[in-house]
Amino acid sequence: MDIVIIGAGPAGRFAAMYAAEKGNNVTLIEEKHIGGKCLNQACMVVCAFSDVSRHLLDAENFMDIGIIDEHVPKINFTKITGTIKETQKKIRKIITLETISTGVEFVQGRASVDDKEKVVIVNDDEYHYDKLLICTGSSPNIPNISGAENALTYKDILKIKEVPEKLVIIGGGSTAAEYAGIFSSMGSEVDILCRTRFLKMINDSESEEYIVSKLLKNTMVHENVEITDITDTSVITNNGEIRGTVLLATGVKANSEIVKDIVELDEKGNIIVNEFMQTSNEDIYAAGDVIGGFLSTPVSRMEGMAAIKNIMGNHVKPDYSLIPMTITLPYDVSYLLGSEVSDIGKTIKLPGASGPSSFWYTLKSRNGYTKETINLETNEINNILAITPSSNIALPYMVKAIKDGKKANDFDNFLEIHPSTDGIFKLTEYYKRYL
Ligand SMILES: Cc1cc2nc3c(=O)[nH]c(=O)nc-3n(C[C@H](O)[C@H](O)[C@H](O)COP(=O)(O)OP(=O)(O)OC[C@H]3O[C@@H](n4cnc5c(N)ncnc54)[C@H](O)[C@@H]3O)c2cc1C
Repeated sequence: MDIVIIGAGPAGRFAAMYAAEKGNNVTLIEEKHIGGKCLNQACMVVCAFSDVSRHLLDAENFMDIGIIDEHVPKINFTKITGTIKETQKKIRKIITLETISTGVEFVQGRASVDDKEKVVIVNDDEYHYDKLLICTGSSPNIPNISGAENALTYKDILKIKEVPEKLVIIGGGSTAAEYAGIFSSMGSEVDILCRTRFLKMINDSESEEYIVSKLLKNTMVHENVEITDITDTSVITNNGEIRGTVLLATGVKANSEIVKDIVELDEKGNIIVNEFMQTSNEDIYAAGDVIGGFLSTPVSRMEGMAAIKNIMGNHVKPDYSLIPMTITLPYDVSYLLGSEVSDIGKTIKLPGASGPSSFWYTLKSRNGYTKETINLETNEINNILAITPSSNIALPYMVKAIKDGKKANDFDNFLEIHPSTDGIFKLTEYYKRYL
């Protein structure tokens, strides 16, 4: 079968490799860089900066408690951005080889679609498809505020030349929190301006407070703010002017323009798909950020895989029941989204263990915690929020355990490495102590 996939981010690339390995004639088309936003602008950039940020904060803490006596290391910002770019280049080379080694034809250029002729056009060349998979991802959402088009977005982070003295972040989600954590650890004074609540997706005011007071340095969060204007050096709000370099963290919008006249879109511009990832055009499927939803790399991959399997004649639905998410801060803030997350039951708070990355903060009472909502009659775990080092590793295993039918009292013979994330699982077994 001739399959064309547009977009070589997490959704498109894995689908392309899978289909090629199964013997299909697969063309993967990418306008910019293989790896999509995840490698080139988003997840990997946050991850790289966060490592530097945690190093600086740890050094500061070691100095504070007197176990090192030299100055906190100084960063070379342009060296950081330069090395991130160099590393991305290397990863792009590796994953290009990985992709084409499966038999995928990788084409560089901006694609457009002619659905009547069933071809995708790139640089005057035409690629026939029996089935087309759209994985064109998303781009920064620029709010309708005067001057917003001049503000920075996540796409510009690697172009910044020096750490801003003052940074004003507009938005209240993960990206706002992560860049506040990163730039404040490097010396910026940060203001976060939220239209409503900060981190409303974690839906826990105690944790919001913990994050602001214990995990974000030199950061002021302003909630329920109305913004009237953005200038080169400030944001004008209903509470006055806040000065600083302006970074928009106001979400993303789907890159759906190339099929807007061919398939149905929702009112936000996301491609509408059925539960098998098929659009309103039976030969066109879509997956990843371009269909909206959870906007994460693993979810995009899962959707891309479901779409390609359906294209190849299976009936696969992505599983949106329990989706682990993390905000990367000095400790990972990991939480669950999905159709099976619920607040039914008793919520208990388990103290964070002392161990890697938390031992040296124990005397400062900054060990984090895990909250679990457990149905006391059935022992089912209905929700988890963990603010601890490595909770981004522990939470997906908890989800796997829950999906496999494990209950809160089922961790008896579960062996891990100590010290690591073992506190979270083991304390679950003994949760009644904490009621
Ligand atoms: C700041 C930030 C941090 C994030 N951090 C994380 C994280 O830590 N963990 C996580 O799981 N998720 C994170 N995400 C979300 C994650 O990056 C996305 O959910 C994921 O990249 C979506 O994958 P995708 O394949 O759908 O789209 P994308 O990664 O956006 O890739 C789409 C690709 O399609 C290409 N394309 C678009 N139009 C065309 C065209 N006409 N022709 C050819 N090619 C085209 C684009 O160039 C792009 O390469 C983050 C997002 C942001 C903004």
